[in-house]
Amino acid sequence: MAAATLFALRITQLEMNNSAAPNQHHDLWHATNITLELHNLARVARQASTADDPQDAIDELAVRFEVLRSMLSPSELSPQTPQTLIQLLPNAQQTFNTITERLDTWSYRLENSANPLQVAAEVAAQTDNLAESMRHVVLAVHIASTNAQDQNRITHHQRFAMLNWILLALLVGISVLVVKLIKDRQVMKRLSAHLESLNKRLEFRVSRRTRQLAESKALLMFILDASPSEAALVNAESGDVLFINKTLLDKLGLNTAPDRLFLKDLLVDTHKGEVFVDELEQYGRVDNWEAQVMPHRPYWSSLSAKLVEIEGKLAHLLWGFDVSEHRKLLDLLETQANTDSLTQLYNRRAFFKFGEQVLDGCKRYDHPCSVLMIDIDHFKKINDTYGHAVGDEAICSLNRTLRETLREADIIGRMGGEEFAVLLPHTDREQMLESAERLRQAVAERPVQSAAGEVPMTISIGAAVFSAHHSTTLEQMLVAADDALYRAKTAGRNRVEI
Ligand code: GH3
Ligand code: MG
Ligand code: MG
Repeated sequence: MAAATLFALRITQLEMNNSAAPNQHHDLWHATNITLELHNLARVARQASTADDPQDAIDELAVRFEVLRSMLSPSELSPQTPQTLIQLLPNAQQTFNTITERLDTWSYRLENSANPLQVAAEVAAQTDNLAESMRHVVLAVHIASTNAQDQNRITHHQRFAMLNWILLALLVGISVLVVKLIKDRQVMKRLSAHLESLNKRLEFRVSRRTRQLAESKALLMFILDASPSEAALVNAESGDVLFINKTLLDKLGLNTAPDRLFLKDLLVDTHKGEVFVDELEQYGRVDNWEAQVMPHRPYWSSLSAKLVEIEGKLAHLLWGFDVSEHRKLLDLLETQANTDSLTQLYNRRAFFKFGEQVLDGCKRYDHPCSVLMIDIDHFKKINDTYGHAVGDEAICSLNRTLRETLREADIIGRMGGEEFAVLLPHTDREQMLESAERLRQAVAERPVQSAAGEVPMTISIGAAVFSAHHSTTLEQMLVAADDALYRAKTAGRNRVEI
């Protein structure tokens, strides 16, 4: 809009410059001067024709001819007006030509004729007509000049009207802009006030939250420190100790927190420690891992850990709970569940459990394997004769003999009452027979040393041999051995049957 205004102002200025050109009325003055000069010419010509001494008038006439000719030469043009009004009027140029022709003729004749007075008379007679023609030219120039000025006025009026509209539009635009600026300023003021209040609220909430966090952190540290569980927070990469509670410090045998602590080093089994940390980093947490910890003073602990982010860095949060007592109880329960209380030998369940494992090993390596079923002969009679307690002593005596006679690797179980089963791994038929016979003899030759004195005792043995190419189970082998035992009993007892 400003550019349009400047453009319109510039155009108007140029128009005004044109209108105010100094040679605006040059043509009119030019034509008028020629007309006046024609009258002068006529006056001098008449003086020459009537004067007593015409020579001065004749000389002045020659000068007037030259003056008039010089006036008829083309007028000077202003740079803004390429053509004068006279040049635009066709009659004017014709009149100029006529006057020029006459002047040329009169000048020639005045210089060369013997009768200059006749030339002067001709000039006096014809210049009035020429002056009349020039008056027409003056009138035409005047009308044309007036028309041109009218046209200029109309153009100026239109330009001014356009300029007015543009200035009005500019004024309206500026007014709208000012109103908008005022409104924007008001909105900005409101917004900055609102922002300031938001900032204050945020600052207040941040400081409250920071205080709450600091309080809850202190409370958490207090709880963790007082906890009976072991707790530690260490940097995942560097092992830098961020927190360690008193319980864990006591377990470590330290008075102050160490600079560094790596979780994997806490476990007795270093491989298990690495697996523990791998699992923690992979899944983000590990729950209730039972492992032996503290290599220098081992005990069983249930470990849980969580991968957390502390101040932009990964950290390991560890809890440990001493389960040594619990573990001991479990071991005891396990032992009791597997063991016969009188002899401390495997019971039937445990015999099958461990026997199956050993049998599988033999099958895998294609080794032979044998079982024995052992039963005390006429045990009822011992009970009946010496009492139940002596019967128990007889069972314990057999137990000792079994342990002494058999190998460490042999699995012995009390299957019930005075019945025992033995699994002999890596033992073929001959080796088994030898062992069974040795056992039978040892029992027969060694009477039971009881409170009631020596009690003679014999056993019968039923045996079965496992061949690698048979897919026999332990159960089937025991059934086979039981059959053999039955045969040993019916064949007279104190013997081995296969
Ligand atoms: P056989 O030669 O045919 O084996 O005759 P047996 O008298 O030994 O007969 P059997 O094997 O059937 O006898 C088992 C007896 O063992 C019956 C039961 O009273 C007794 N008994 C079972 N368990 C115990 C125990 O723990 N202690 C004692 N003292 N006796 C038991
Ligand atoms: Mg029996
Ligand atoms: Mg018996």
